[in-house]
Amino acid sequence: IARELSARAAARVTLINEDGTVLADSAVADTDVPKVENHRTRPEIQHALLSGQGTAIRASHTTGERTMYQALILDRPPGAPRTVLRVGLPMTLLDRETATLQRNLAIALGAAFFMAVLLSVWMARNVTKPLSDMASVAGRLMAGDATVRIHTRSRDEVGVLGDTLNQMTAQLRAKIEELSEDRAQLLAMLTSMVEGVLVLDCQGRVLQVNPALERMFNVRREDLRGKLSHEVLSHPRLSSLITTILSSRTGQEAEIVLSPGGRCLHIEAAAAGGERENEACAVLVFHDITELRRLENIRKDFVANVSHELRTPLTSIKGYVEALLDGGKDDPETAVNFLGIILKQSDRLNLILEDLLELSKIESGSVSFKEDPLDLRALIERTLSMIKPIADKKGHRLVARLDDPLPPIAGDESRFVQILTNLLDNAVKYTPEHGTITLAAQAGPDQTIDVSVSDTGIGIPEPDRPRVFERFYRVDKARSRELGGTGLGLAIVKHLVEGHGGQVWVEGNQPQGSRFIVRLPVRKPRAQA
Ligand code: ADP
Repeated sequence: IARELSARAAARVTLINEDGTVLADSAVADTDVPKVENHRTRPEIQHALLSGQGTAIRASHTTGERTMYQALILDRPPGAPRTVLRVGLPMTLLDRETATLQRNLAIALGAAFFMAVLLSVWMARNVTKPLSDMASVAGRLMAGDATVRIHTRSRDEVGVLGDTLNQMTAQLRAKIEELSEDRAQLLAMLTSMVEGVLVLDCQGRVLQVNPALERMFNVRREDLRGKLSHEVLSHPRLSSLITTILSSRTGQEAEIVLSPGGRCLHIEAAAAGGERENEACAVLVFHDITELRRLENIRKDFVANVSHELRTPLTSIKGYVEALLDGGKDDPETAVNFLGIILKQSDRLNLILEDLLELSKIESGSVSFKEDPLDLRALIERTLSMIKPIADKKGHRLVARLDDPLPPIAGDESRFVQILTNLLDNAVKYTPEHGTITLAAQAGPDQTIDVSVSDTGIGIPEPDRPRVFERFYRVDKARSRELGGTGLGLAIVKHLVEGHGGQVWVEGNQPQGSRFIVRLPVRKPRAQA
């Protein structure tokens, strides 16, 4: 039986009596069984006898091989002696089995690991990748790049999230574009305005200014923004206006004069209704009315000047007429003398009125200038010969210095003669005897011709030079009047020159005197063109 069991279990089978005597052993021939050593001391047998079963791994006393033993008491009828059945399996066999098991396990583990890697890659591609893409897109969005898009093909939650993000980006982009267009339009409006604009918040801090305001106050936008207006635009009237509008929230108006430069500004302040910080609370618009005021002053001065200029000869005439009536007429010599003065004063009155009428005609634009081809050389020579008698009277030397050839110009001949005679007349008047008066004509820059009248006379102080072209402006009133001037000659010259598309100005002549320069554009006469 032991041998048969051994064959079936592929293990050694031993039957041992309670006292340790070996009854049968599959590894021992039947004849040799009685010689086999008593097994009572074997640990597995001892265990089995004590607890019903025992196990041990040790070298076999019989076969010498490392063997795993399993022993157990066989069921017997009660009272019968106990018998132990022991199965011994050589460890080599077990080791082989374990090795096979380990190899299979390793293969399985490898396969599982490989599968896990594949799964991770798949997961990374399908779940983590789109998410990390979205994270980077969100990062770029945050950095201000609104053109980014997420590309997902999946239709799961990640895909939906991607689509939502794309829609959000598109909406954001549309909003940003709309806002930047609005901003650009507003900026263009603000930048192109000639009026200065100042926007303040409720605390009076500067939120916005435009370039016109920067120019008016000679400040830079960077230095203003976020600062309190009264600190950066210090002007008492402006500060009080701002305080009033911020407290009363009603529109205000004021006029201020900036101290350096004397610019005159009209301010219209409107409440904008903002309550919170960084919200427009007041908008101030600054109109530069310096020119308006200047023109107003010129007009006022003009009326005063005209009255004064007319009154002087009139008073004189009235005085002499009264003197004649008071008996002066009875003395023929006195009468002739007085009547001579009256005639002179009436001539002067006439001269002033003629000049005034001439000026007002030119200014109103009712005078049209002809555009005939002009022979400048002949014209200059003719004017010089006209002025020669009065120049000779004061012993002046007249010099003409003309380029050869002179470029052709077009214009109104009689007006041109008027310009030159006025200038030459002044040169003769304001140059003490035996001076030199030079009339020069030469090519100027950019297709222009400069015609100048220089003298060696009393000259014009630098600050008066731009003003001598104003009506009735005279450096020395008494001297001008004494010399028979009306104070309108240069104003007429200026208008005539500008009517010909040119410009006129005065410089100092070296070493003394003045030089009036008339710069005219060189034009092809209409006939030639
Ligand atoms: P006026 O009739 O008084 O000469 P103008 O308009 O011709 O008036 O000239 C204005 C003022 O310019 C003169 O009063 C004079 O003070 C000054 N002025 C004009 N021409 C000369 C000159 N050649 N030299 C010095 N001063 C001049």
